Amino acid sequence: MSLMLPPVRGQLAIAGEWTSARDDFTSLSPANLAEVIGTFPNATAGEVADAVRAARAAFPGWRRTSRILRAECFDRLAQLIKRDTDALAHLMARECGKNITECRAEVVEGLHMVQYVFGTGRMPVGEVLASEIAEKDVFVRRKPWGVVAVITPWNFPFAVPLWMLGPSLLEGNTCVFKPSEDTPAIGQRLVELFAEAGFPAGTVNLLHGDGSVGEALVRDPGVNVVCFTGSYEVGKRIQELSAGLHDRIVAAEMGSKSAVIVCEDARFDLAVTAGIISGFKTSGQRCVSAGRVIVHESLIDRYAKAFAETARRLKFGDPLDPHNFAGPVIHEGAVEKVLSYNALAKKEGATVLVEGGEIHPVAGSKGCFLSPFVYRQEAKPDVRTVREEVFGPHVALIPFKTDEEAVRIYNDTDYGLSMAVITESYRRMRFFRDECEYGMGYVNLPCIGAEVHLPFGGVKKSGNGHPSAAGLVDAVTHKTAWTVNHGTEIKMAQGLTTNIEGGPA
Ligand code: NAD
Repeated sequence: MSLMLPPVRGQLAIAGEWTSARDDFTSLSPANLAEVIGTFPNATAGEVADAVRAARAAFPGWRRTSRILRAECFDRLAQLIKRDTDALAHLMARECGKNITECRAEVVEGLHMVQYVFGTGRMPVGEVLASEIAEKDVFVRRKPWGVVAVITPWNFPFAVPLWMLGPSLLEGNTCVFKPSEDTPAIGQRLVELFAEAGFPAGTVNLLHGDGSVGEALVRDPGVNVVCFTGSYEVGKRIQELSAGLHDRIVAAEMGSKSAVIVCEDARFDLAVTAGIISGFKTSGQRCVSAGRVIVHESLIDRYAKAFAETARRLKFGDPLDPHNFAGPVIHEGAVEKVLSYNALAKKEGATVLVEGGEIHPVAGSKGCFLSPFVYRQEAKPDVRTVREEVFGPHVALIPFKTDEEAVRIYNDTDYGLSMAVITESYRRMRFFRDECEYGMGYVNLPCIGAEVHLPFGGVKKSGNGHPSAAGLVDAVTHKTAWTVNHGTEIKMAQGLTTNIEGGPA
């Protein structure tokens, strides 16, 4: 049960100062559409510019701070996250509707990122290479770009910002963070913890607001790097807006149509569990959620029966009840979107196995709950529901005959984020590993379940090649070659002569 806490008074954080609270927009709990989580300011154009200026002003001092001292701020942040784990999980569950057990796991994931960043503070930061010239030492070193804009989605409102803020700050960048307008309270709480941990004024600035605030931030030429996670449509817009800026880097992690492939030699129960977890955890609202389970034809009838029976048993309800499997979808717009895809599946000739739709598990409450929609669809061209991201509890079971056909079905979408293959055969596993297009691959597991010390990203419409979490360092720094001559005269590589007719004057 919710502890009916007072609403959060939303503020912006600019140059270490909190602005006065405003109530331009409201964050409501999707579980009942009644509980006000908080009211928040929509940052003005002037406030966006101020936040970027504040980050720019804080950059030189932060960059010159020892990397190890920067890392130690993260040690303090880790202690605060440990202290507040339950409160953070509770706020997250109320605000975004994910089940409390998932919210707790997400806080722990954020903590792991912070611990990873602290730990890497003392790890090697570059490379020492040999030179053609014996007297020369050559190094590859990294430099921070400057100001990083961090624009994040609602579905991982704590861990995803930390995947981006952590590496950016450790490397000496300063940040302007704009959380999703659907989860501003948890975003604000995170920035309060950064301040409490002693990050200097201006290193982490907070802007609240909708896409227009995000767009103003992207348009600001004072931003060197945009770290974006969200939908493909917004990621594409950010890349287009950034194309005209000569020193702009965009790291974009976007949508997906991930899948589990169940081979003829699969362990059956493991395959059902993997499909269910991949399809319905977080009510199918993970970027890596499986919208498709691709099943060998010899198993499909038995698999469909077990999958449908299990899906029917899943309990969707109050996010604060740990016995529920999952909570609501994020808002009424998401309900409409998923229902329209359910209807489209029927129009496209699907055989419906579980007729999911709107449910009201909490008596007298209007929350945005959906039950699983499961259908069988044959592999054929032009079926939109098996190619487009639905982002809800909507799963297609698709039969295949050969491993080659399974790969063709898996790759037949514009996305390429995550895949899992369920097989006992090491040859088959290797075949799928090499032939499928993805950023994260799993064997005998669900296609969800990232760990922070691995890169997190995708290909095609899922990502532009700058993975998050441990992979982000390449996007938020640039590599420099640093060459030092220890000799007393100049000798050049490639045999280039240094003769100057008559010698130096
Ligand atoms: P969204 O794209 O609607 O919003 C993401 C963020 O972008 C929000 O903060 C939003 O305010 C901001 N935004 C919107 N328009 C903007 C603009 N024109 N310029 C700048 N910023 C703008 O995504 P969402 O609904 O919050 O999240 C769901 C999506 O995120 C799904 O597609 C999901 O697959 C994806 N996602 C991807 C990953 C990944 O790592 N690949 C992780 C989580 C979620």
